[in-house]
Amino acid sequence: MTFEELGLCAPLLKALAAEGYVSPTPIQLQAIPFAMAGRDVQGIAQTGTGKTAAFALPILHRLAANPKRVGPGGCRVLVLSPTRELASQIEESFRAYGKFMNLKTTVMFGGVPKGRQARAMQMGVDVLVATPGRLMDHMQDRTVRLDGVEILVLDEADHMLDLGFIVPIRRIVQQIPQQRQTLFFSATMPGEIGGLAGQMLKNPAHVAVTPVATTAERVEQHVIMVETSRKRAVLFDLLMGPAAGRTLVFTRTKHGADRVVKYLEESGLAAAAIHGNKSQGQRERALADFRSGRCRVLIATDIAARGIDVDGVTHVINYDLPNVAESYVHRIGRTARAGATGVAISLCDGEERAFLRGIEKLIRAKVPVMNPPAAPAQKRAA
Ligand code: AMP
Repeated sequence: MTFEELGLCAPLLKALAAEGYVSPTPIQLQAIPFAMAGRDVQGIAQTGTGKTAAFALPILHRLAANPKRVGPGGCRVLVLSPTRELASQIEESFRAYGKFMNLKTTVMFGGVPKGRQARAMQMGVDVLVATPGRLMDHMQDRTVRLDGVEILVLDEADHMLDLGFIVPIRRIVQQIPQQRQTLFFSATMPGEIGGLAGQMLKNPAHVAVTPVATTAERVEQHVIMVETSRKRAVLFDLLMGPAAGRTLVFTRTKHGADRVVKYLEESGLAAAAIHGNKSQGQRERALADFRSGRCRVLIATDIAARGIDVDGVTHVINYDLPNVAESYVHRIGRTARAGATGVAISLCDGEERAFLRGIEKLIRAKVPVMNPPAAPAQKRAA
């Protein structure tokens, strides 16, 4: 099945060709026909499955089929996203896929001044991508109005719940006409998320790809048992190892991330961190350096890493094991994108063994134990 056969309009096909997409991914094959037909969709899909295009393409197709002017402060499509990184990436995707269409898109998130975001809304836009908190601010300021929304997307609903956005989302949805199309995506669908979906969707089509365990199966996983005090040195040795390529390192805390960067830089290895205490500019620079290969090690916290889209990550290293087993699967999924395989290595100290057991229960497999890499003397001296 090709994008042509899905019936997407010519400007979209041209943009997809320009992006180098040859065929739709499974979630796209499942979701696009329903969404193009105007049905509500409830999708279970993780980042990396092509879920952004699974909702962006049919939305753009529908907008193109029915061009309309938007009033001041208004938007035809509202996409809610939990983090600023994900919001920016979703907006970029809409722009990339819509580049041969005459559409206005904008993105709004916290941590940056509101003025420019308000000005971008003055004439109305076709697609607004927003984090819930900042959108609420703009609604209170009356710089955004939602009474003209035709299509609503909720992305990473489970993550929204983790971040405490459920109440803001309910408030936002109240402002949107009942007569609308709603596309609802989540990596997992626990009871509370299912309940929210039930309230927001009308007779949805259900689509799902890559259950959690399958991602885990594609990644070669290891765990190194190590004392906390030795973790930094072991990480350095792993990063200096012959096989290490583009590596994403996860820490549990922002300070932990900063400490790791400091240690690596003092040891002569360039690394950058992204987390919630970094400014938008710092995060974007770190990501750009990592994408371009100028810096092959990126240290991230779970929240900062969720949704960032970097292809070609060969290794994920869990400097700390996450206390939520699902996060482990999200983390290691960053290396097995678009069918590629990758390596995930976790450093586990005595206190983290319980987390490891939880992870092994979730993925229904034992993570093989490996020895710390042997460190040549000259590297230790570095
Ligand atoms: P997502 O799951 O939306 O974060 O997408 C993961 C990655 O897959 C992104 O880098 C997309 O640009 C890419 N992608 C999405 N759809 C396709 C496709 N049909 N063919 C090739 N790459 C794709």
